[in-house]
Amino acid sequence: MADALIVSDAKPAKLNLLGMPRVQLESLLEELGEKRFRAQQILKWIYHQGASSFDEMTDVGRKLRERLAEIAEIRPPEVEEEFISADGTRKWLIRVEGGSRVETVFIPEDGRGTLCVSSQVGCVLDCTFCSTGKQGFQRDLTSAEIIGQVWIAARSFGLPKKGGTRAITNVVMMGMGEPLLNFDNVVAAMNLMMEDLGYGISKRRVTLSTAGVVPALDRLAEVSEASLAVSLHAPNDELRNQLVPLNKRYPIRELLDACKLYMERQPDNKRVMTVEYTLIKGVNDQVEHANQLVELLREYPCKINLIPFNPFPQSDFERPSRNAVMRFSNILHNAGYRVMVRSTRGDDIDAACGQLVGQVQDRTRRSQRYRERAEKRTDIQ
Ligand code: SAH
Repeated sequence: MADALIVSDAKPAKLNLLGMPRVQLESLLEELGEKRFRAQQILKWIYHQGASSFDEMTDVGRKLRERLAEIAEIRPPEVEEEFISADGTRKWLIRVEGGSRVETVFIPEDGRGTLCVSSQVGCVLDCTFCSTGKQGFQRDLTSAEIIGQVWIAARSFGLPKKGGTRAITNVVMMGMGEPLLNFDNVVAAMNLMMEDLGYGISKRRVTLSTAGVVPALDRLAEVSEASLAVSLHAPNDELRNQLVPLNKRYPIRELLDACKLYMERQPDNKRVMTVEYTLIKGVNDQVEHANQLVELLREYPCKINLIPFNPFPQSDFERPSRNAVMRFSNILHNAGYRVMVRSTRGDDIDAACGQLVGQVQDRTRRSQRYRERAEKRTDIQ
């Protein structure tokens, strides 16, 4: 019976207060015989002040701090490396429990700063033009690991001072993974991004991006007020089936109807969904595609974000010429749509859309690649 003699010396994991929804924290405090409003103080310490220990929480009584320290902790994921691009874009390589890595990217632009947050380690969807899918799927991130990416970025910029400027004005769930396939953790983390006691970012500026998990979209409307982006990439099912295999389960019309319904169910009806369209040379960037898109989207209030394809080593797809991008954009614009062409940012640190892979093997080769890219940058913007 040798098995019975094996004694684990691993300490039981403490509760992680990072990422814990406010109501849950309130219940925990009640269980400890405290008033619920203590939760407000603790939340402010964690998210407004970036506290990582109970010692820092000077307006919380010493007894409670000690009790909390026995049973709980504030455990962010670990930053393994931070990269800063020539254009100011930053990327954090973040190590999560179990040893996997995910990536978080910050994109500064005039008057705003957008943080691109990951929701899963890898992705099951395997869209043919996205490098995240090529590494397969490892696991969902916890709510602590998702909000932890904002926590890490906010701390690295210095925290928002009252009346001062905020570095992070927008969050987009457009990093690694499909957020709607990690529903509960993503919703909990997005709520903390939007709550005043969390990061207090407006619901217009927290955006969930999805490749189209239709049933989850219907559920989302019941629990979230975040903004919505849909990764369309093709104006017809035949082409979208090839680029986004999930389309075979949930075809375009079903998806766009679900997105429209989500927006209509929001308490404010001023927002419209964002349609993302990655332009791939010779695949979906032709005049006929733009014309089809004009027709397709007529019944769907939206703005369109065009993303010139970002190449990566395992892909044969190419980025269209600047002219092809402008031609596509003009057709949509002339038909009355609001169109934005997303500029390629952080190319030299592999931080652009679809380049996030979170792997660290082969670091030398990657570093070499960063340098080569930085030397011969061919951004179209
Ligand atoms: N799974 C979610 C969020 C992650 S991807 C979704 O599909 O929306 C964020 C955006 O970048 C998506 O629109 C995705 O299709 C796009 N993208 C992925 N790979 C790309 C690449 N290589 N070049 C340009 N855009 C890419």
